[in-house]
Amino acid sequence: MLQQTLLAASRRPGLRRAVVAHPATRRVVDRFVAGETLDDALAAVHALAADGLAVTLDHLGEDVTDRAEAVRSRDACLRALDGLASFGLGPAAEVSVKLSAFGQALPGGHDVALELVRPVVEAASALGTTVTLDMEESATVDSTLAALADLRRQHPGTGAVLQAMLFRSEADAEALASPGSRVRLVKGAYDEPATVAHRRRKDVDAAYVRCLRLLMAGPGHPMIGSHDPALVARAHELAAQHSRSADSWEVQMLYGIRPEEQRRLAAAGTTVRAYVPYGADWYGYFMRRLAERPANVAFFLRSLLTR
Ligand code: FAD
Repeated sequence: MLQQTLLAASRRPGLRRAVVAHPATRRVVDRFVAGETLDDALAAVHALAADGLAVTLDHLGEDVTDRAEAVRSRDACLRALDGLASFGLGPAAEVSVKLSAFGQALPGGHDVALELVRPVVEAASALGTTVTLDMEESATVDSTLAALADLRRQHPGTGAVLQAMLFRSEADAEALASPGSRVRLVKGAYDEPATVAHRRRKDVDAAYVRCLRLLMAGPGHPMIGSHDPALVARAHELAAQHSRSADSWEVQMLYGIRPEEQRRLAAAGTTVRAYVPYGADWYGYFMRRLAERPANVAFFLRSLLTR
């Protein structure tokens, strides 16, 4: 119930203004967001790389309402890739993008988003790295997977995300388990109706394991996007069972969540990639992180009261 309320709030402009303007919000946001500028993000990348972590950089933004904003998203991603180039990390530093930030919801949006994201994917390939297409609400999955198929024709390293909570994801996992295919498997962060998604935590976890088995058994590069210790352990068991080398799969976790575990896994030889969000448009991302964990809401409310 709390989760649904927070996810609904992430779409309410009035509340957005109040939360963003509140002076205490900043302290909590800083836990999950690397900063507002590219320089802030690059400083975080530098520190994470020094700890042996790979990164995927996310310029925050979603649901743009006109083409000019979508063009600004493209340009921000191109600047991010330029910034990452200076570290010379190759595939250890990639970017993640949301097609809704590239105009996917505008009239003719599928083509707009594809046209604007293509130069980002090309620039990443030129640097020897990749782009992963984040997955948003279930209504956008067909468009995002169609964009992925198009981009992968010339840039086969382009990554996708599957949300275990969606009923369709097992079939999508099977379809995407092909050589070179990079698939991040997550539980799913959006409020989806019971007609398309599992709603109970234990059903989502069971669906996650079914998708995980398919991806780990296949010839692609599975990316385990989860902080759940049971699922990360299951991924390690399956990797051993399928004799996967450490560079043929990876664990991905969000910036600021279980950071000690990220470093511990990396030190023990697992490829770990931190998802590093930055930028001024952090509201939607922040509200989804609150919705994932009641303790975050308590922490946030305490900050408001103790400012
Ligand atoms: P949970 O059972 O939710 O959490 C397990 C444990 O992790 C918790 O007990 C807690 O210790 C810790 N934890 C989890 N979340 C939080 C939090 N917010 N704050 C503090 N601690 C926390 N979802 C999408 O729908 N589309 C995407 O493209 C997408 N990309 C992602 C990329 C990465 C790298 C990751 C890690 C997640 C992504 N997600 C995405 C979010 C995902 O769908 C889940 O909502 C989120 O990861 C929480 O699920 P969990 O698997 O970590 O398990």
